[in-house]
Amino acid sequence: MARILLVDDAADTRHFLAEKILVPEGYAVDIASHAEEALALLAQRQPDLIISDYLMPGLTGLDFLAAVQSQGFEIPFILITAEGSEALAVRALRMGVRDYLIKPFDIDDLLQAIHRVISTPVRRTYPAQEVAFFSLLNDVSSLLIHLDENQQVRFVNWPAQQALGLAEPGLPQPASALLVHPDLQSLLASAELREAQLQLPNQRTYNVEVASRPGLGQLVMLHDVTTLKELDRVKSDFVTAVSHDVRSPLTTILGYLDLIGRAGPLNEQQRKFTQHILFSVRSITELISDLLDLSKIEAGFDINLEPTPLDVVLRYAAESLLTTLEAKQHRLSVDISPHLPPIMGNALRLKQLMGNLLQNAIKYTPPGGQISLHLYADDGFVVLQVADNGIGIPLEEQPYIWDKFFRSENAVDDYPGTGLGLSIVKTIVDAHRGRIWVDSAPGRGSVFTVMFSGIHDDTSPTPR
Ligand code: ADP
Repeated sequence: MARILLVDDAADTRHFLAEKILVPEGYAVDIASHAEEALALLAQRQPDLIISDYLMPGLTGLDFLAAVQSQGFEIPFILITAEGSEALAVRALRMGVRDYLIKPFDIDDLLQAIHRVISTPVRRTYPAQEVAFFSLLNDVSSLLIHLDENQQVRFVNWPAQQALGLAEPGLPQPASALLVHPDLQSLLASAELREAQLQLPNQRTYNVEVASRPGLGQLVMLHDVTTLKELDRVKSDFVTAVSHDVRSPLTTILGYLDLIGRAGPLNEQQRKFTQHILFSVRSITELISDLLDLSKIEAGFDINLEPTPLDVVLRYAAESLLTTLEAKQHRLSVDISPHLPPIMGNALRLKQLMGNLLQNAIKYTPPGGQISLHLYADDGFVVLQVADNGIGIPLEEQPYIWDKFFRSENAVDDYPGTGLGLSIVKTIVDAHRGRIWVDSAPGRGSVFTVMFSGIHDDTSPTPR
């Protein structure tokens, strides 16, 4: 609904126009009896159109328009006057008045003028203070784009203009016309995706972050992560190379450890020492295979996605951990809803994901605990919950548990681990375009929830 600010010192005219004409036509109307009162209403009411009388006590209609403009507002303006002088009309039009009506005017003429002005794109810019603030945003290195609720681009900071190849774009402009980069377009079109990574024509990679608020539109922020990505790649390559080289001597050590016992009887002390060696070598082997897995999944080598029933994978993952579960005397409850849609997935990696979550639940729960697996459908998604009543994770550490090698304070000394399990889980979830989060409290336990798009008969089997 368009909002009109009507300014006239004649109370009769003001009320007649507002109540008998404009409101019945569907406009929201604010009224003011003089320019100063109208100026005070501007920022708060944000009108789409101002209709103002010319001759009023205090500021004239055109003085009022000048004041509006000097505050940085560009609001369409219709001037009404009893004095039909050509000089005034010229002055008014020069100042940007969009229409000019001479009293007494025909109501139809007024309505047509309003309609004409409102149906041509409204150029509303920011008040002066905000303009100054936005100019400051030209100095930040991140790319910033502001879109209003109608997907009109209202602001593009200087670095964004350069990166997107936009030379001084006239604003506002529809996002679909201005931001033509296909990845950026699909990102803005997607109602759900709020974080992503994309490469722009300047060959740099950006992390995209979108903040939105009803009434304010969206702020799209692109942070340059090219150097970090390159560093990450070099590090991953290095780790992969070293891991490969370390794995074969480890296999040899494990082989010989096995042979020692067969070569002849060991005394008690020798047996204890070889057990220690075996334990250490197994820990390193586990670390190496986690690292290699991680780099393989990150590189996307083996993520071939095909319709996969998660219930089958979950049963399989749970069965392979039954011995470990029984060794700690945990109770396991499994609740799988019937008729779950399959998801586009890689069964091997999904089993690894579930296995890691379940292993953690078993490991970080003192003996005799309760572990629960729940698999169900919710609004087109298939949701897995792995819950335990174990040691829990302190709230302030929860954001970091997905990082490589992170181990929380309450676990690091008492429980063995590499700190890679959840990084692998997160990487697998990302490769499936799923989501994962944790709810946990120290001493009470943890619930890990994973969510994937289900495949439905009426949609193509592509994850959302
Ligand atoms: P690891 O278990 O090898 O240490 P992970 O990456 O699987 O590594 O987990 C990272 C950290 O998150 C763990 O060290 C532990 O502190 C915490 N954590 C993960 N799962 C649980 C859980 N179910 N209960 C309590 N803490 C957990």
